[in-house]
Amino acid sequence: MAQEDVFRKLVSHCKEYGFVFQSSEIYDGLAAVYDYGQMGVELKNNIKKYWWDSMVLLHENIVGIDSSIFMHPTIWKASGHVDAFNDPLIDNKESKKRYRADVLIEDYLAKLDDKVDKEVEKAAKRFGDKFDETMYRETNPRVVENISKRNEIHERFSKALNDNDLGELRQIIVDCEIACPVSGTRNWTDVRQFNLMFSTEMGATSDGALKVYLRPETAQGIFVNYLNVQKTGRMRIPFGIAQIGKAFRNEIVARQFIFRMREFEQMELQFFVKPGEEIEWYEHWKEVRMKWHQALGFGAENYRFHDHEKMSHYANAATDIEYQMPFGFKEVEGIHSRTDFDLKQHEKFSGKKMQYFDPELNKSYIPYVVETSIGVDRMFLSVIAASYCEETLEKGETRVVMKLPPALAPVKAAILPLVRKDGLPEKAREVMDELKFNFTCQYDEKDSIGRRYRRQDAIGTPYCVTIDHQTLEDNTVTIRERDSMEQKRVTIDLVEKEISAKTNMQSLLKKLI
Ligand code: ATP
Repeated sequence: MAQEDVFRKLVSHCKEYGFVFQSSEIYDGLAAVYDYGQMGVELKNNIKKYWWDSMVLLHENIVGIDSSIFMHPTIWKASGHVDAFNDPLIDNKESKKRYRADVLIEDYLAKLDDKVDKEVEKAAKRFGDKFDETMYRETNPRVVENISKRNEIHERFSKALNDNDLGELRQIIVDCEIACPVSGTRNWTDVRQFNLMFSTEMGATSDGALKVYLRPETAQGIFVNYLNVQKTGRMRIPFGIAQIGKAFRNEIVARQFIFRMREFEQMELQFFVKPGEEIEWYEHWKEVRMKWHQALGFGAENYRFHDHEKMSHYANAATDIEYQMPFGFKEVEGIHSRTDFDLKQHEKFSGKKMQYFDPELNKSYIPYVVETSIGVDRMFLSVIAASYCEETLEKGETRVVMKLPPALAPVKAAILPLVRKDGLPEKAREVMDELKFNFTCQYDEKDSIGRRYRRQDAIGTPYCVTIDHQTLEDNTVTIRERDSMEQKRVTIDLVEKEISAKTNMQSLLKKLI
């Protein structure tokens, strides 16, 4: 199946089974804003719990906070967001569609990479065991030409980004003959900067109202509270502060479902370290975070690091963890060594000391910060994309199954009386009443057992517990496992232990140690 088809199916599956709805749908929606339904909210909460526990529960030197969305507007002046939180935008004069100039060029570069990879793949098949990939890349004229074209554009692009040279960005688009995907023309406007922050007014009277921003990242809430937490929590460097919360960005091009939204959620860790030790910690967190992703079992080959072309104004090292989405490798998480930029800026703008007194060194300094920042929604998208499967079973029957990691699944067990009579529903209710204190259960007695299994497969329920006539005789039930569809009989008093052991968060967290 083509990747676009997989993606289209995924989006409609999310709607059909209550994972994700378009926001304000009855009013034809609001662009790039989405609501999570009854299944989506459970999955999202489990993702958040996995992250939170991996940070706060497993690290003695990491604590959490929950800061407000509105903050003093000077914070955004100090952080650089008022002046520099911009994206370069370009419009196509024919279609009137707006694009991010950097994304147009990145897509073009990815296409060149793709071309080369396909050429190499084809040759590898043709030559079999004798194939020498390095030699082929260095000598095949078509491949050599594409690689050198790519490198040349890439170099110009990096320089244009670093120099903030908007004219050159436009020139690259013109030179590469990049066309608008909608109109197909190359009739472009100039490239302009566009600030991504939403603003609103706080206060009742219009003359006394204060212009405030909806935070574009949760990080600043941590920085301005770092000394409160350090002092009240008696934290010693190195230590971290974790936070999960909403962030808002007026994205120029919002597409690809929940990948790029205007209202989204972030899970961020700011880790405070001694100046000079930040690169060591940056490397450490890169490794820890990659392990967190890979513990979900979606295949190491689907992740990669992508070091930044253009460093943000605050960073001295930065990388992204990318996941192979149905539309290519895309950023899910950013890891940045943010230096002492933010704390220094807040000291300057607020006039308050942001120094930490280090009892070991017996002196004060402004700590350096390593940040890990992951979008809950992008993580959600990667999880559902990795889990969505269409399978052909015996007798040509098909099933859609979400092979979600059990610890993340919205419903852990479905409780199903085989038939809706003979006292089986009553017995099933008894089982449900026992189990519901331990994990999320769903009771279902409607339709044939086969159809009920399919419904549970479609939402990724790892276990179905079926109550049949034998249950009434010997107090045993069958447990059906989602992926293998294998069933086994166990006594009712073992069901809770059996399912808990395989679906609780602990089982996932233990993979991180
Ligand atoms: P991009 O380059 O895709 O715009 P970014 O580099 O600006 O992302 P960061 O500022 O590093 O993103 O934010 C950290 C994380 O927050 C990202 O890795 C992503 O998971 C998430 N995120 C950022 N912007 C959005 C958005 N508009 N919608 C959903 N998630 C987002």
